[in-house]
Amino acid sequence: MAITKTDFINFTRCPRYVGLEQVKKENLDADITYDEYKNKEKSEIISELYSEMFDETENETIDLVNKIDPQLEALLPYYKQVEIEAGKIAAKYFDGKLIYADNTNNQECFDFTNEGILYKCYVDIYNENNDSINIIEVKATTSSKFEKLGCSIKGEKKSIFEKIDNTYYLKDELGNIDMPIKKYDENRMKLLNRYHDAGKYVYDLAIQRYIIENEYKQSNNSSKQIKYYLAILNHKYIFDGTYEKENPIYNKDENGNELITFIDLTNITSEYQKIIEEDEKKLRKYIMESNISECKFGPYCERKKKSECKYFGPVCSLKIPAKNSSLNYINNGFGFKTEKGDRIKGLDLINEGYIDLLDIPEEWIEKENHHIQRDCYTFNKEFIDKEKIKALIDTIEYPIYHLDFETFPCPLPRFKGEKPYIQSPFEFSLHIERAPGVCDKDKDNYVFLAKTMNDEREEMVKKMLEYMDPNKGTLLAQNVPFEKGRIKELANIFPKYKKDLMKLYDRGFDLIWLVSTNKKIYMDLGFDEQRASRINYYNNKLSGSYSIKKTLPVFSDLSYDNLEVKNGTEAIVVYANYNNFTKEEYNIKYQGLIDYCKQDTWAMVVILDALRKLIK
Ligand code: SF4
Repeated sequence: MAITKTDFINFTRCPRYVGLEQVKKENLDADITYDEYKNKEKSEIISELYSEMFDETENETIDLVNKIDPQLEALLPYYKQVEIEAGKIAAKYFDGKLIYADNTNNQECFDFTNEGILYKCYVDIYNENNDSINIIEVKATTSSKFEKLGCSIKGEKKSIFEKIDNTYYLKDELGNIDMPIKKYDENRMKLLNRYHDAGKYVYDLAIQRYIIENEYKQSNNSSKQIKYYLAILNHKYIFDGTYEKENPIYNKDENGNELITFIDLTNITSEYQKIIEEDEKKLRKYIMESNISECKFGPYCERKKKSECKYFGPVCSLKIPAKNSSLNYINNGFGFKTEKGDRIKGLDLINEGYIDLLDIPEEWIEKENHHIQRDCYTFNKEFIDKEKIKALIDTIEYPIYHLDFETFPCPLPRFKGEKPYIQSPFEFSLHIERAPGVCDKDKDNYVFLAKTMNDEREEMVKKMLEYMDPNKGTLLAQNVPFEKGRIKELANIFPKYKKDLMKLYDRGFDLIWLVSTNKKIYMDLGFDEQRASRINYYNNKLSGSYSIKKTLPVFSDLSYDNLEVKNGTEAIVVYANYNNFTKEEYNIKYQGLIDYCKQDTWAMVVILDALRKLIK
């Protein structure tokens, strides 16, 4: 059982991981086949796609410990296609022999053995010409993560990267740093942080380099210069809607952008080699010790990220209460200031023994909302500011359009006007509340759901404008920026409907403003700053969160448990599997999607009604 790149990344997280994984030491020098290798990497690929496609970690988690939901595998062809497109575009920019995913079994493989452990990797795109070798690792992430590393100078955004001929280079390598050196270095250092959003890809490529260079060292076999690149999706690319035999053709867009862009990380992965060498020593030590005893939490747990350690939920976090722990204070990213003036936050609170919400010393609590939360917990009571809730409810214009979209954030743009990972809507549910409390679950519900995976967006827009009058009423959603964002995108893609869609956009109202707060809106209503910043409602069941998953059980007995489709992740995978279902399965799942989205908007109607009753 060779150590793959994914194993390397996970086994070096902490001393405990290898022990939990029960790695068999005896056969770590045994080779694995291409298929076994790819199979081991599959969960990583799905988790990578998953982390790009799904924004929130709090609402839905995926159990990657023992299984991958087979439906999630419907996402794999999209990843494969990204690899193929990357290979095609690499052929335009790199001379010489090119080997990539199109002919997988020929993928270039590297390995080396050290102290009885075989390390192995396959190269996504291998390019060789007379003078050099280029190693290109394909990742289904986007260039925005790299481009945004930098700072603002006089309102102008500066990046530490510059793009020349479809490849990003670090500006220090080009000799044209255009920001204060301190800022530049701070951002560049992020690339050397394996738990940073962009740094994790650099770490991955640096392991690749480590294996490749060790193979060459052991075999004494290369004199050519080797360069190391990432190939990733260009976040600025807009698909022009060209198809050949129903397959999208990704030409350069009208701004000259390629779908795939490259990042030259040769120098930075070189700097990384000492660290990787140390990590390899650690890895060997962890394997030899195979220790499952508890260890401290750290950034390596990647809590709440989609790359969260698979043992966090089922094993290591069991000592943290599921509700009302010290981690559940509302919006507490900066943590608490101790008597000594230090800040302590996140999992360090747990490491230091502050586990329950009440374990945090009262003197550390600075924010009024945290005092409210603590009071509610201590005395098991509810907090409510009826006046604020009433004042905002009174501003709502009828009819209320309770709207929710289901979207498919495909890595590759599928339809004209789309970018990589655009949240492409395929369904909406709408409940129309014509006067306070006047809304029937079935009769006042309108659902549009695409029947196929083809482009049905225009029909969807027409239906939206048929059901909603853009000149009156309120567009209400839970997390309204999401719904507004989709409406704006559709408005730009379909200029014919732009005026009306933007009128709807301007009527957006967030249900969360009533339960939590919105400082600006309440100040506009005449509340002073302190009260406007204060939450409107709190109940222990919320456990510091105003997500729909938490608010719904507080205000209703509605449940998603008996539905065929129970959450947003399932909705996406059902849609992604449209073409894989039998007719019968399709009918059941199609209805499941209708029921799920309808439940989302009905939940909003129910919560709003419960709030009205609460303030009477
Ligand atoms: S959750 Fe954290 S401490 Fe536990 S095994 Fe994973 S990385 Fe290690």
